[in-house]
This record gives sequence, structure tokens and C-alpha cells, in this order.
Amino acid sequence: MSIEAHRSWKGRKPKTYPAGRTCAFEQCEIVLSTYNKKKFCFNHAPKTYPRVRGYITLPINDDGGDK
Ligand SMILES: [Zn+2]
Repeated sequence: MSIEAHRSWKGRKPKTYPAGRTCAFEQCEIVLSTYNKKKFCFNHAPKTYPRVRGYITLPINDDGGDK
């Protein structure tokens, strides 16, 4: 038993962002959460696509010189 355990959280502040930020979208006045690291509100957040592991979209194109 010691007080040492209390030190574990010290120096680890939760990351917050300045309050009162608004959505970066033009004419949008939705205030973002201080925990929201994005620039846009929920409605204007750019769509993200789920990452598919191991899926490569590069076209397989060996230069066969067929053309
Ligand atoms: Zn917005």
C-alpha cells in the first residue's frame, strides 16, 4: 500500500481542444466539442471509409506492351 499509485495519471492530461470552436464548414455555426479533434461538425465531417486490410486497389498492369 502506497500513494505511488496516484502518480500513474499524473502528467497525462486528457487531450482537449479550445472551447467555442465552430464547424469549419462555411455558414455552419455548430459548436464543436472540446474533445472533437475534427474541424467539422457531425454533418459536415468528411466521409471516411472503413479500411479494408489487405485489400489493394492498385490496378495490376504488367507492361506487356500489347497495345
Ligand atoms: Zn458543420
